[in-house]
Amino acid sequence: MSIEGHSTAPGANVIAEHYCCVAGCARWGSFGFSQSKTVETRWWCFEHYPYWDEIKNRSNSK
Ligand SMILES: [Zn+2]
Repeated sequence: MSIEGHSTAPGANVIAEHYCCVAGCARWGSFGFSQSKTVETRWWCFEHYPYWDEIKNRSNSK
């Protein structure tokens, strides 16, 4: 439920490489998003990251 840079959670699977999941894009996936803890986190580069609005909404609701 959060934007994960580097997971520091104990026991978490360390994902050594996660590039942008958009086909044809070879950039590093700096921005991860997971619908829930049971859903595998997907990664996008800055340009392709589709959840900017969600981030804004979350920060606005604080
Ligand atoms: Zn990309």
